[in-house]
Amino acid sequence: MSSKNKWVYLFDEVEQAEKYVGGDWEAVRGLLGGKGANLAEMTRLKVPVPPGLTLTTEACNAYLAAGENFPEGMWEQALEALKAVETAAGKKFGDSKNPLLVSCRSGGKFSMPGMMDTVLNIGLNDDTVKVMIKLTKDDRFVYDLYRRLVQMFGSVVMGIPDEPFEEIITEARVKAGVKSDAELTADDWKQVTKEFKKIFKKRTHKKFPTDPYDQLKLATEAVFKSWNGKRAVDYRNAAGIAHDLGTAVNIQTMIFGNMGDTSATGVAMTRNASTGENNIEGDYLMNAQGEDVVAGIRITNDVQEMKTELPKAYAEFEKICKKLEIHYREMQDVEFTVENGKLWMLQTRDGKRTAQAAVRIAADMVEEGLISKEEAVLRVSPEQIDFFLHPQFDLQSKQKAQSSGAFLANGLNVSPGAAVGIVAFDADRAEQWAKEQGKDVIMVRPETKPDDVHGMLAAEGILTSRGGRTSHAALVARQFGTPAVVGVASLEIDLANRRMQVGDHEIQEGDWISIDGTAGEVFLGKLETMVPDINDPWLLKLLSWADDFRRLGVWANADYPKDAERAREYGAQGIGLCRTEHMFFESERLPHVQKMIMTDLQRERDEALAAILPFQREDFMGIFKAMDGLPVIIRLIDPPLHEFLPNQFDLMHELSDLKIRLQQANNLAQVDDLLEQIRMKENILKRVESLHEANPMLGLRGVRLGIQIPELTTMQVRAIFEAACAVSKEGVDVHPEVMIPLTSHVNELKIQRQALESEAKKVMEEQGIEIDYKFGTMIEIPRAAITADEIAEYAQFISFGTNDLTQTTFGISRDDAEAGFLMEYISTGVLPDNPFATIDPNGVGELMRIAVTKGRGVNPALECGICGEHGGDPESILLCHELGLTYVSCSPFRVPIARLAAAHAALQGRITKDQ
Ligand code: ADP
Ligand code: MG
Ligand code: MG
Repeated sequence: MSSKNKWVYLFDEVEQAEKYVGGDWEAVRGLLGGKGANLAEMTRLKVPVPPGLTLTTEACNAYLAAGENFPEGMWEQALEALKAVETAAGKKFGDSKNPLLVSCRSGGKFSMPGMMDTVLNIGLNDDTVKVMIKLTKDDRFVYDLYRRLVQMFGSVVMGIPDEPFEEIITEARVKAGVKSDAELTADDWKQVTKEFKKIFKKRTHKKFPTDPYDQLKLATEAVFKSWNGKRAVDYRNAAGIAHDLGTAVNIQTMIFGNMGDTSATGVAMTRNASTGENNIEGDYLMNAQGEDVVAGIRITNDVQEMKTELPKAYAEFEKICKKLEIHYREMQDVEFTVENGKLWMLQTRDGKRTAQAAVRIAADMVEEGLISKEEAVLRVSPEQIDFFLHPQFDLQSKQKAQSSGAFLANGLNVSPGAAVGIVAFDADRAEQWAKEQGKDVIMVRPETKPDDVHGMLAAEGILTSRGGRTSHAALVARQFGTPAVVGVASLEIDLANRRMQVGDHEIQEGDWISIDGTAGEVFLGKLETMVPDINDPWLLKLLSWADDFRRLGVWANADYPKDAERAREYGAQGIGLCRTEHMFFESERLPHVQKMIMTDLQRERDEALAAILPFQREDFMGIFKAMDGLPVIIRLIDPPLHEFLPNQFDLMHELSDLKIRLQQANNLAQVDDLLEQIRMKENILKRVESLHEANPMLGLRGVRLGIQIPELTTMQVRAIFEAACAVSKEGVDVHPEVMIPLTSHVNELKIQRQALESEAKKVMEEQGIEIDYKFGTMIEIPRAAITADEIAEYAQFISFGTNDLTQTTFGISRDDAEAGFLMEYISTGVLPDNPFATIDPNGVGELMRIAVTKGRGVNPALECGICGEHGGDPESILLCHELGLTYVSCSPFRVPIARLAAAHAALQGRITKDQ
């Protein structure tokens, strides 16, 4: 079998490789490795590439399978191919007249750390050195090459540390009395080479191999073996790369960028990788070899300066960059070397870029005719859009902070964006400093609780030392678009003394810190921020194309007019969820709400509701105006009533305080006053106790509450319709949709809808206006999903409340589970994903499918949407697209992301259908 295998391909044999793998370019990359495939492809494109050969990844696997031995014929094939390389280069390996030197470069399908570094200048020994000196008449240059080979071979192939080599160079500089390597003479390098060989001998107990073929073989084997090196294996495990891919080895004619002042070496991106501007960006060094540019020993020049220093080579370089972009239809990251004025390309691959650059490059390439709009939309990931929605740290100021030691710690990047502020260790202080003193605050806690929300809302950023991606802090931060880093384990917070410690740094309350929620980093002091623009022209273009491709509507969850305005600015086509209850918490309203809950007298309850009505009407008018022309879904009251009353334990504490004060009262007036207060508190406590439920999540809430206290939901519907009529008279095009929460049986809906719709009609009659409205329900209980055909008789729309639907489907209480076993379930693989982050497709998703199918079976025009947090999750959006939902509704900050994700869903569907 060995004789049949082709283990080695020359750079100009890419057609054969293609044929062997069946024509697919990804498979060619798999066979030749990314580096080798692109070297071959550039050769085919007639881009100047130094001739070379590739031992395939299959060769690597065969070598490893044979117990780290070359199977019969493999090395012979390599030597055979080397002859062809010699012919192409016009030089001979190990020759005494015109010796060929080569590099040995590793390269698997995916580039990964841990693989063997490149060895340059293979083929030099004491004999070829002499010949090279005769040919180049530059002994300094040749000895510089030689010492590099011994050093690289020693460290890369044999694993000798770099330090002893570096020490010798330092000694040589001291001895010569010079500051830089460039000032060392030929004799100095000659001496250094000798010393290097001694180190080699001492460390490896072997002589430096003088036979060029031994050098080449050892280097090749070392590359193959590095595939199973510890770091490489660990990395593949972490990155999910298969262990059987293997690495290729490229052996390539050396080009010398260090041949004097018409030679150079450099790296570049064909476009600006930070901004996406269509300008070549990169660094180069005159008179230098490969590594020197990246090693950072010498200060590099901007590649644009090559225009004047090496004008001919640069002109060709520019042309090649364009050619490569046109061929690959992607921005390229390239390596090049100029030898005596002649340009050679040594590598090309798709370039990494920032989110901003990704958007601009994709949009520009459409305009340039390089790619289609569909491709452009697919090239940008939904998460990259997030970049434009939050302030970011200026890259340079971040680098400066890194190098000046201001970097403090890493944590989980749970809510993107940059924030700068003074540290506040509790919610009250955070709120006070922010609201009363107008300061920028970062709220820092070990972890956060629902009681902390007011401080979190007031803060610029949130930092916790504990908690994970679904911790309370993370969820609240994402909901409100506040940058957050959580789970920073190295942060020791000392709440008692109001300070924290990270390593050697101690930070007091009130000190400035900066957090990067995009990267999950914490810095000391104030970093410069910049605000990317959601109206970035390239982003707008890309999103408008995305809108053309998607079928799914994108709506937003918004409770306040301000949120609705933002949602609309970000492209929302409606409000999918407007929650009415936190309007009840505001200070002018809460007393009325509490009175309504406390009283047993119908008259008092009516009075309280009448007092709340104008506030609600006002709120709705604002939202209707903001959403002129678009639908607004308003959900009637949902949470259990006890949430509006003080906490039972707080009440008990206050009561015992009052009773102590009563014993100490010194006059009758005081006694009377205290007795009155005690009576009031006791009444509230009694009510709180009577409302207490063992399991409020499954208790008296949602539609059950509406049936129990019909005056409450009737008041809400009156407020909605009075608001709608009022704005309609002002010329606003209004489309309210009234949503009844938590239905489990159709009868609940039937009863509520009858009561509410008659109130709606009454208002419209009073006002003399017809409003275009809908009545519908949330689907958040499995029973409702399964009986959606019955429900569709009474609902004009349904909206999946996937947070509760997930809780009720799994029988899991989210708040308890996320702080407890759920995270363990996910980390140990009991559950593949957090079902509260991504819809569980087989359970919750299946219920949704049943509901849509049954509901539309009865009413084909049934509007079906989703308003849970999942509405902003790209993977869940894909599912919603496949289920044929009308829209997804998500937080305003995720609207642009959802628009792109919905386009991806539509385009991916199209692609799989085409196949
Ligand atoms: P990496 O994968 O770490 O980038 P490379 O194989 O690309 O490693 O090589 C490291 C450096 O050596 C690069 O600057 C590359 O351009 C240079 N280099 C590699 N082979 C040659 C060669 N044949 N002639 C000149 N320079 C080379
Ligand atoms: Mg490289
Ligand atoms: Mg719910």
